[in-house]
Amino acid sequence: MQAIDFRSDTVTRPTQKMRQVMANAVVGDDVYGDDPTVNELQVIAAEKLGYEDAIFAASGTQTNLIALMAHCDRGDEYLVGQQAHTYKFEGGGAAVLGSIQPQPILEGENGCLPLDDIKAAIKPIDPHFARTRLLCLENTHSGRVQSLDYIEEATSYAKSVGLACHLDGARLFNAVVKQNIDVKQITQHFDSVSICLSKGLAAPVGSLLCGTHELINKARRWKKVLGGGMRQAGILAAAGIVALNEQVERLAEDHENALILAHKLANIEELTVDMAKVQTNMVFAELKSSTPAELASHLESNGILISPSNTIRFVTHKDVNQNDIETAIGLIKGFFYNKK
Ligand SMILES: *Cc1c(COP(=O)(O)O)cnc(C)c1O
Repeated sequence: MQAIDFRSDTVTRPTQKMRQVMANAVVGDDVYGDDPTVNELQVIAAEKLGYEDAIFAASGTQTNLIALMAHCDRGDEYLVGQQAHTYKFEGGGAAVLGSIQPQPILEGENGCLPLDDIKAAIKPIDPHFARTRLLCLENTHSGRVQSLDYIEEATSYAKSVGLACHLDGARLFNAVVKQNIDVKQITQHFDSVSICLSKGLAAPVGSLLCGTHELINKARRWKKVLGGGMRQAGILAAAGIVALNEQVERLAEDHENALILAHKLANIEELTVDMAKVQTNMVFAELKSSTPAELASHLESNGILISPSNTIRFVTHKDVNQNDIETAIGLIKGFFYNKK
């Protein structure tokens, strides 16, 4: 039996259709630009997201890094959230591999970077300082949707002072589906965007970076330099095409399931759930008395996986359904009941 896995939407397994198209994909050597399936995916992504060009890469960490390296030179800096993936969860890659300095900014309400703090962090042109070149936002951020008004305000200010704007849109389509808008209403504000195919969209591997031809050409070079050149990658891109064409609307189910899960968790006395954060496919809960490790190990021995961090994050996705949620709730209640 497969475990019921709430750790992340990255655990989603490819659909039958994905497996079929992967088996039959027409391929070539992508480092020569010869893989027709990779090329097709890149065209589809650029078109859907409203950019001139796109590049397929192994992971979101890699598409973010090649974006940062394409936008910034050695000794430049990017403004980024203190809790942003591109700052905190990518091993310091921009600094380590790109010689690019992060300037983290504490998140404000709903995870946005407050405009006044963005303004205050931009450095004058002066040899004492790194050159501020780029504003990097994230949407969704910990499951939270960044409003169109905020995005417009922050990016238009950034552009007015000569900064480029990059969006870490690993879960961009969760925001799009939640707001029931066209993805371009968000992406039109950014010079580049990175999206993940391997999260809620259920592809096994892969991310895309979109931008101008000029930016993507630079990114293509950095991807190769970083060892990211893949050969018959059309096997993976084939699943990515299915992800973009057929898995986006389904994300609404994940959002509905997250709300159901959140309400049921909130009804358990020993848990505190922050309902304001339940906007897409994530639910955050804190335990009042037991440790997360105790709960996690009880659940694991019953076939349910969660990450035992202080605030427990439950992620809903294609491979958890409402029955699974019932099962999990029953076991969580059982855990607290038996402790009494
Ligand atoms: C998952 C994720 C990424 C990319 O992660 P990879 O595992 O490298 O694909 C980037 N940004 C955010 C916000 C993410 O959640």
